This record gives sequence, C-alpha cells and structure tokens, in this order.
Amino acid sequence: MPRTLVTGGAGFLGSHLCEYLLNKGHEVVCMDNLITGSKENISEIKNSAFQFINHNVSEFINIEGNLDYILHFASPASPIDYLDLPIQTLKVGALGTHNALGLAKAKKAVFLLASTSEVYGDPLMHPQPEEYWGNVNPIGPRGVYDEAKRFAEAITMAYHRTHGINTKIVRIFNTYGPRMRIKDGRAIPNFLKQALTGENLTVYGNGSQTRSFCFVTDLVEGIFRLLMSEHHEPVNIGNPNEMTIRQMADKILQATQSDSKIVYVPLPEDDPKTRQPNISLAKKILNWEPKVNLDEGLKSTKQYFKQKLNI
Ligand code: UDP
Repeated sequence: MPRTLVTGGAGFLGSHLCEYLLNKGHEVVCMDNLITGSKENISEIKNSAFQFINHNVSEFINIEGNLDYILHFASPASPIDYLDLPIQTLKVGALGTHNALGLAKAKKAVFLLASTSEVYGDPLMHPQPEEYWGNVNPIGPRGVYDEAKRFAEAITMAYHRTHGINTKIVRIFNTYGPRMRIKDGRAIPNFLKQALTGENLTVYGNGSQTRSFCFVTDLVEGIFRLLMSEHHEPVNIGNPNEMTIRQMADKILQATQSDSKIVYVPLPEDDPKTRQPNISLAKKILNWEPKVNLDEGLKSTKQYFKQKLNI
C-alpha cells in the first residue's frame, strides 16, 4: 500500500485528492493548518488508512515512517485569501515547498508541486502553453502568490536536477466544484451564492476578461496521471473551454433560475485579461482531457451550495 502525504489536504482540491488516493488504495496522511482549509471537507472520510495532522508546512515537517508520494497543495489560493495573507502565502510557497522537498529527499518520495496558471501572470500569449514564461508584476498585490509559485517551481526543478528527486509540477487553471467555500471569493462561488440568495452578482470590471473553468474531478484525474508519469517539467491541467466572466454570470443565473441582477464593480489590480490552457502536452503524455461539461459541473456545485446554504 503506497503511503502518501497531501499538504493542504483539508482544502478544496486537497480533500478531493485525499479521497481519490484512498480509492486508489493509498494510505493518506493529510496535513493542513486549517487557515483556508476546513475539517468539514474531510469529515466524511471514514477510512482507517486516513490520518489528519494539523501542522503549518512553513515550519519543519516531521512525519514518522515511510512516504512514497508527497503532493504539495498547501497555500491560500483565492485572490481574497492571498491578499489577506500575503506573508503566509509567500512563506508556504517558498519555505513550505523547501520543507516538503526536504521531506521528499529524506523519504525518497515522489514529489508533486501544485503550481498555477498564475505563473503566466496577465499573459501576452494566448492560449498559454507550458513554454510561455509569463508576464507577472512581482510587486503588485497578486505578486505574493505568483512569485511564491514561481519560486516553488524553481526550487522543485533545482531539487530534481541537484538531488535527483522524482518531481512533477502541475500548473492548475481555474477549477470549481463542491467544497469551495461559500465565502471563497472566486467567481463561481461568489456568483452561485449571490444567485441562490437573491443578491446582485458582482461582475468585476466590464466582465470581458476571460477564464476557462475545469471541474474538480477532471482536475484530480489529470493530477494523478501526472503523478504516475515520468514527466518532470510543468504540465498545464485545466479545461480549455474559455468564456468571459459576464458569460459565466449569465450561465449561473440560468442554472439557478435566479432573478438576481448583475452589477459591475471595479476590476481588482492586475486582474488577468485572458486565461486559457493549451493542454496539448497533457493530452499527449497523460492521455488526459477534461470530460465534465459546464452544465453538469455547475449542477453538482449548485447542489453543494444549496445544501451549505440550507436552501
Ligand atoms: N470575478 C468577478 N466577480 C466576482 C469574483 C471574481 O467578476 O465576484 C472575476 C475576477 O475579477 C476575475 C475572474 O472573475 O477576472 C476570475 O476570478 P477568480 O477570483 O475566480 O480567480 P482568478 O482567475 O482571478 O485567480
């Protein structure tokens, strides 16, 4: 039975990964300090092969026994969180990644870094292939996340090249699904909550900026395939189905049959104008592409939000 550590395991993506790995027969150690993750996300896991440890991975990580895989997912990931927690975000991307890599070296474990499409910043190339180096403002409000993840990629490659660690890097594009927090702050949870409770939908700017949204189960499948692959350079995982944020707001009004109105509020600083993954590499080396369409994905996310909001 492989033994796997998931840092950030009580978060949105982390909790889905823990479940997926348990289903694949892994013993899972879930580590989280619960600053943006939540025990509720893992409360339904009833499996003797699952263990939770409350720990901040920016501090030295001590794990008893062997580890075969480490998936490093700990980090605030919603813009409102990293704007609120800029230093913790920088620390977990830098010190947390260093600690997790040190642990991988000590345990001779395979290491997978959760990186992000934010490494491309406000991209000047569209869609974004892995070869694109990005357009990031290092000192803007989003720089704390973007640069932390860019550093995390750099140190991961350095551990791979210098110490021969078996590392992988996934660049995760916008993802949605059950277990996103009601107050997550990202577009889909905001719009769903607003539509379901009769509030105005807050579109930032004029809503012409684009994103491409991937359902969480597709993402997790892609990540697992990457973990099992022998590819060490970054791989985009996301859904290329690009739309404007205004279109997404309309879609959510339709999916919830809500009478809410759309209001336009100022665009946050450095908000990327476009984002769409080029997933040719994932298709080629992982034989992966997303399967869940937006209607299905929104339906299941809406169910989760209705349950959380007692509607
Ligand atoms: N956005 C919006 N209204 C909201 C939340 C987000 O218009 O209530 C916009 C945001 O400005 C961005 C896009 O939706 O252009 C996606 O934002 P999100 O926070 O989901 O993630 P990002 O892709 O910016 O990291």
